[in-house]
Amino acid sequence: HAASRPPPTPSPFRNSKFFQSNLRILVTGGAGFIGSHLVDKLMENEKNEVIVADNYFTGSKDNLKKWIGHPRFEFIRHDVTEPLLVEVDQIYHLACPASPIFYKYNAVKTIKTNVIGTLNMLGLAKRVGARILLTSTSEVYGDPLVHPQEESYWGNVNPIGVRSCYDEGKRVAETLMFDYHRQHGIEIRIARIFNTYGPRMNIDDGRVVSNFIAQAIRGEPLTVQAPGTQTRSFCYVSDMVDGLIRLMEGENTGPINIGNPGEFTMTELAETVKELINPDVKISMVENTPDDPRQRKPNITKAKELLGWEPKIKLRDGLPLMEEDFRTRLGVPQKK
Ligand code: NAD
Ligand code: UDP
Ligand code: UDP
Repeated sequence: HAASRPPPTPSPFRNSKFFQSNLRILVTGGAGFIGSHLVDKLMENEKNEVIVADNYFTGSKDNLKKWIGHPRFEFIRHDVTEPLLVEVDQIYHLACPASPIFYKYNAVKTIKTNVIGTLNMLGLAKRVGARILLTSTSEVYGDPLVHPQEESYWGNVNPIGVRSCYDEGKRVAETLMFDYHRQHGIEIRIARIFNTYGPRMNIDDGRVVSNFIAQAIRGEPLTVQAPGTQTRSFCYVSDMVDGLIRLMEGENTGPINIGNPGEFTMTELAETVKELINPDVKISMVENTPDDPRQRKPNITKAKELLGWEPKIKLRDGLPLMEEDFRTRLGVPQKK
């Protein structure tokens, strides 16, 4: 219990005169979709110095181009499965592919990233006395038997399926976080992120929102994977970043669900994209992949009570913002 736990090492970098009381923040996976939006928000605060460590597996330099060369920003091409020596006050640990096609592409690497990568970031946090936040996932609930999912639910996960490298990987990462907390007094924060969407998502990463928007813009049929009645809840990326920063700055370890509780079937999502983006496209039913969770919706009571957070952007308002970004990147003129 708490009394027998060693106190966290105070970070020597926080408030140090040498660094003019700047907060030095490491973002692993900062060249990715959520990571780069997080970096944008952190860089708005002139007291923050941001270091990104990313191996560019699914991320890109483009996402960070406005910060390259900025005096408070630094980029390190680094794979988190290797040890990292930097001196920081906070670590946002996001490095890990999030889209099923990428995390299944090299499943063993995905496990290494989740397990060895998280171990390394915890070793780093221990050495320098930094606070560390892990971006875990709603996938830790597996194909949930409890609906909506609350943090106390232990989940229904297949340990040997094609998604296991990701969901079991994140479960071990959460375990490591709590063991470093109990054993070494590390200050931890765990966010369980539900499906997030917005500008800078990989256009061809196979995720449902990016697929439907790209298909609608290209005038191709929207591919609903059978049966189409499965549900997801979609959070706009600026809301997500706000939740992550509140969690890091607050006093609660989590795990805390961060997501938008609006729940949609994939058929409803396709109809909404069709209506908003291209009323002429067809919707076609295609084959699904194994172990696809049938329903997913966060209970966000904890986030509301403990972080004072709830999402602000509705799906109908977020989709057009993403459409604009996709049109630019696909080289298709904006709608008038
Ligand atoms: P993303 O794929 O856009 O970003 C992941 C970043 O991590 C990429 O820049 C990639 O290059 C980097 N990376 C991957 N393996 C690495 C390694 N071994 N070493 C260093 N860098 C590595 O994904 P995202 O959507 O921005 O997701 C960010 C985090 O949020 C992930 O941890 C993911 O599991 C979690 N998450 C995302 C969602 C979502 O809907 N997007 C949902 C739940 C959880
Ligand atoms: N580690 C790291 N950066 C650091 C300190 C540690 O990457 O600044 C790595 C280290 O290489 C090790 C892991 O973190 O693999 C766990 O470190 P810890 O000190 O907890 O365990 P140990 O080194 O004793 O196994
Ligand atoms: N999906 C779909 N059409 C697509 C891609 C995905 O209907 O082109 C479905 C998929 O079967 C799943 C849901 O959308 O039920 C969410 O899939 P995604 O890969 O975006 O995220 P995750 O399964 O990780 O929540």
